[in-house]
Amino acid sequence: MPELPEVETVRRGLEPVMTGRRILQADVRRPDLRWPFPPGMAERLTGAHVVALRRRSKYILADLSTAETLLIHLGMSGRLLISGATLGSFHHPHPAPAKHDHVVLDLEGGARITFNDARRFGAMDLMPTEGAGAHPLLSALGPEPMGNDFHAAYLAARLRGRATPIKTALLDQHLVAGLGNIYVCEALFRAGIHPARLARDLTGAEVERLVPIIRDVLVDAIDAGGSSLKDYRQADGELGYFQHSFRVYDREGQVCVTPGCGAIVQRIVQSGRSSFFCPCCQPQ
Ligand SMILES: [Zn+2]
Repeated sequence: MPELPEVETVRRGLEPVMTGRRILQADVRRPDLRWPFPPGMAERLTGAHVVALRRRSKYILADLSTAETLLIHLGMSGRLLISGATLGSFHHPHPAPAKHDHVVLDLEGGARITFNDARRFGAMDLMPTEGAGAHPLLSALGPEPMGNDFHAAYLAARLRGRATPIKTALLDQHLVAGLGNIYVCEALFRAGIHPARLARDLTGAEVERLVPIIRDVLVDAIDAGGSSLKDYRQADGELGYFQHSFRVYDREGQVCVTPGCGAIVQRIVQSGRSSFFCPCCQPQ
């Protein structure tokens, strides 16, 4: 499942191909993904210019010249493919239509964006650009973890008195938007905080430390995604999935990467999700 850095990588890959370009033709090949598409989606997209391409949490938002905004959510298995444009040093010709190609946008300049989603947990919707933040998928989201509204005083206030594990609190999208299992594990490891500690028990110094670490973890991952955009090894122009190197995530049973630590990474299950941590670097 794509997390925030993957979605941001997709946005950055789409930006040079989509921004400022007109959608010459929108081909909507089924009535729905996770939810029904908005009425007349193909007609409402056709002829519109893409004015700006933004991201909120794990949603890509394309502001259109029609005063509407197209929301794109990749869901579990959604993929966006670019063809007919030069990406890095590769030019991907249009592929033959494939199974699960549900929406195809042909853009001015020759590029084609294909939304492929085998499991159909993805979503697309159209809404007025003004007040787009009131969309049901967006309205309850907390601040962006890399934005100015996410700071130590805010986080401290939201953790105060909270009797849930810090891991669970950070996955709460009302508290902070777009953080997922992988990057919460990585941030808690870098901050030396055990994932099962209660949110209310974190010290002021730990909260101060955690906020810039969360930002760094995401920035590092986005940078890794950025390098993957530069050298398109994937033959099909697919955006957003790249090689990660995690310090603790998915490393159960391996030696901790902290120099001189020597402890073995452990895994516990919290709220149905795996948490990976070093019992030495992250004492309970
Ligand atoms: Zn360690």
